[in-house]
Amino acid sequence: MSKSIIIDAGHGGKDPGAMGFGEKEKDWALEISRYQFRRLNALGAKVALTRKEDTTLTPTERVARIKNQYDICLSNHWNAFDSSARGIETIHSVRAKPTFAKDLADRLAQCTQLPLRRVFNRAISPGEDYYFLHRLTGRTETVIIEYGFIDHPMDHAYYKNQKQFYTAAEAVIEGVCRKIGIAYKNPDEESLKESKNSSVQLKLESIYDGKLRFYNRPSWKDADVFGYLKIGQGFPKIIEKLTVGKGEQFKVENSKGETFYITAHPKYVKIT
Ligand SMILES: [Zn+2]
Repeated sequence: MSKSIIIDAGHGGKDPGAMGFGEKEKDWALEISRYQFRRLNALGAKVALTRKEDTTLTPTERVARIKNQYDICLSNHWNAFDSSARGIETIHSVRAKPTFAKDLADRLAQCTQLPLRRVFNRAISPGEDYYFLHRLTGRTETVIIEYGFIDHPMDHAYYKNQKQFYTAAEAVIEGVCRKIGIAYKNPDEESLKESKNSSVQLKLESIYDGKLRFYNRPSWKDADVFGYLKIGQGFPKIIEKLTVGKGEQFKVENSKGETFYITAHPKYVKIT
């Protein structure tokens, strides 16, 4: 049986966490956590989130959502120091082996090419964790991930690039899949490959809470916009994935067999 996991988006609401170049840690933590939640859910994991929105959670409330209810807890964070420090850190409990934290850190460093600072634990007294997410979460195994330093220009620039942001998210998802015992699949390449080899029809659905543009030709231009999808709306058939300018689009078909083009970014659309 696979293990269950809760993803903790660090900080939130009145607590912005670290800050750098006008960005707040709480926003990045929420974005990566929601993405990982959606992906793990689609991969068949038993997964939950500590917060789904920009809400304030006291340590007591956060712990209450985690403790002993899941096998694993992943807490997503970014660091800040004096703009000179950079790189990835993962922190495990003094009660746990470093294996999982080390695996996540290695995978992240390898996929992002960001420097790996350290994998460590911290005690306030022998056998007692410094971080409350380790100390107070019972038998749930918690790993805190610091993806980089939000106030370091190079770490910041890495995560400002959306494609790279999701590369980091995927690196962690892959490590989690291995830990909890489910098969990892690349977000859309794998599903597309499967569709070509089988008669399974892949549908596209907008997960964007707004008006999502689709085009009458492979283009991002306003003049080529044909219409808009609301969240939950979609196309019954995905034909192929194309590189369009700096991004990627799916060529899709509606129920009348008319073809259109729409972003393939997993932040905006999902394949069902
Ligand atoms: Zn933090």
